Amino acid sequence: MSPDPSPALPTVAVWKFASCDGCQLSLLDCEDELLTLAESVRFAHFTEMSRAAVAGPYDLSLVEGSITTAADALRIRTIRAQSRLLFTIGACATSGGIQGLRNFAASGAYAGMVYAHSEYISSLDTSTAIADHVPVDFELHGCPIDRRQLLELITATLAGRRPAIPGYSVCQECKARGTVCLLVAHGTACLGPVTRAGCGGLCPSVGRGCFGCFGPADTANTVSLSTRLRHDGAGEAQVARLFRTFNAAAPVFLAASVAHGGAPPADDGAATPSPRGPSPERDP
Ligand code: SF4
Ligand code: SF4
Repeated sequence: MSPDPSPALPTVAVWKFASCDGCQLSLLDCEDELLTLAESVRFAHFTEMSRAAVAGPYDLSLVEGSITTAADALRIRTIRAQSRLLFTIGACATSGGIQGLRNFAASGAYAGMVYAHSEYISSLDTSTAIADHVPVDFELHGCPIDRRQLLELITATLAGRRPAIPGYSVCQECKARGTVCLLVAHGTACLGPVTRAGCGGLCPSVGRGCFGCFGPADTANTVSLSTRLRHDGAGEAQVARLFRTFNAAAPVFLAASVAHGGAPPADDGAATPSPRGPSPERDP
């Protein structure tokens, strides 16, 4: 890495761990705003955009992906030590992502199904959130994240104000865009009442129940929703399955799935909440 040639601008570094790159891509999707943003910050490390890499320390690190290898568990500590602020972006980084499903299976169970020679795979038995390993200054949820929320987070941080990112549920977004409630009108299974807003109520707007991409809302009442789903005819396995997608290892969704018969985490045999406790969201 080279020394920073323009030290006047705040430096932003974007890091990838176990992930599909979709959340980093959301930053590149900020087409109209990206050039303006590039006048306010220096992208010091962003391999999806440029091979140029400037040595740390960094003012802000954006971290995509979960921790799935011993090497990455060490790498995130180095990145944290180089970063004044560290924000995690996306379901992989904030809850372990879809690959967190491995947490509920025997060691290597999925690797054996996917790879012809899984003996060459060296990884941890779990996929865990970045906040389980290092302090995180803000978690931005979604699979993928919403680019407008990402811009709001970055610009608010640059301006020194609290980002306007809601913790209420997708239902409020349905109401705002005038979507007829699928759950009430048609009995369609929908995770919107317990899922954090951010997508704009996209799936319900096209007749699909919410899949829970943005993870648990601040005051998610999964017991109430599960009772309604059972009343509408969903079986126990279906309710458990609904909570086992992109944010399966998020403590609130994890507890809800286990309560309806989903396998507990393989390492402890019980549905234990994450040791990191409440969401670390706070003023950046
Ligand atoms: S949160 Fe979803 S979109 Fe983002 S990196 Fe993970 S799998 Fe991809
Ligand atoms: S469709 Fe789903 S997200 Fe929309 S209001 Fe109904 S329950 Fe809430």
